[in-house]
Amino acid sequence: MATKNIELIAAPKPPHFVGDGFRVHNFIPSGYHLDMKRMDPFLMLDYNSKFHFSGTDTPRGVGVHPHRGFETVTIAYKGRVEHGDSAGGGGIIGEGDVQWMTAASGVLHKEFHETEWAKEGGIFQMVQLWVNLPAKDKMSAPKYQAIKNSEMKIVDLGENGFIEVIAGEYNSQKGPASTFSPVNLMNAKLKEHGKANFSFPPHFNTAALVIEGNILVNGKEKVPTDHLVLFENEGEDFTIEASENAIVLIISGEPLNEPIFPHGPFVMNNREEIIQAFDDFNTGKFGYLED
Ligand code: MN
Repeated sequence: MATKNIELIAAPKPPHFVGDGFRVHNFIPSGYHLDMKRMDPFLMLDYNSKFHFSGTDTPRGVGVHPHRGFETVTIAYKGRVEHGDSAGGGGIIGEGDVQWMTAASGVLHKEFHETEWAKEGGIFQMVQLWVNLPAKDKMSAPKYQAIKNSEMKIVDLGENGFIEVIAGEYNSQKGPASTFSPVNLMNAKLKEHGKANFSFPPHFNTAALVIEGNILVNGKEKVPTDHLVLFENEGEDFTIEASENAIVLIISGEPLNEPIFPHGPFVMNNREEIIQAFDDFNTGKFGYLED
C-alpha cells in the first residue's frame, strides 16, 4: 500500500466568537485553508482551542437558531455543553462525549455551556464539525445521537496508547455513530513516542487535527498542537507518532460529489431548496423552541 502524504499543514486562524460561548478557529470552509468541496462531506470545522472562561450565573453560548440539510457533530474535550432542539433531542455533552445531531429536514436548536460548569468556569475545548447529507437524505427526519465516551469503541494499541472510534472503523472495529455515508471519526490518544497507523481509501477526504501534544507524521513532518493536517487524495496509509502525550482527531470520509449550495445555517443542493428552507423556517415548519 502506498503512503498517503501531507498536502497542507494549516495553522489555526485568529479566533472569532460564535455567540459568546465558543471561541473558535475556523479550518473549513475558509479562504486560505479548505473549502467545502475539498473536504466533502465535511462542510465546516470550528475548533475551540483551550480557552479559559470565567465563572458566571448566565451561561454563555448560542441562542435558538435553525439548521437544515446536514448534521452537526460536537466533540467535547474540556468543559460541558447543554443542548436542546425542537425535535425533542437534548442533553449534556460532557468531557470526552460526542453529540451527533442530524438536522436533516430541519431543527431549531441552542447550545450553551452547562449551568453548573458555567458557574465554576474553567478551560473549555471543543470541536464542531458539520457533516453533509446525501441529497436523498436531506429532508429525512431529524435525529439525535448522544454518544457517551464509555460507548465509544476502544482499540488498544498497547504501549502506544489507544484509538477511540466514534464513527466508521479502525482495524475493523466499528464506532457507535450511525452515518448516512461512509465517515470515519476517531480520537488517537497516544502516549509519548506512541505510534498509530491509519489506512483510508485514496479518494476519501482525510485530515487530522492535533488537539493535544505534538506529532510526527509519516516519520518526517512535525505538526504542532492546534494545527490541522490535510492529506493528499493519493495513497492509503499514514502514521502518526506522538512526540509527547497526544490527542489527534482523525477525520476521513467518502465525498458525496453532489452540488453544495450553502446559505447561513442551511446547506442544500440548489438555490430553490435554500429559498424553500427560508420559507419553511419563516412559516414555523421547523417547530418551536423556547429561548
Ligand atoms: Mn448550531
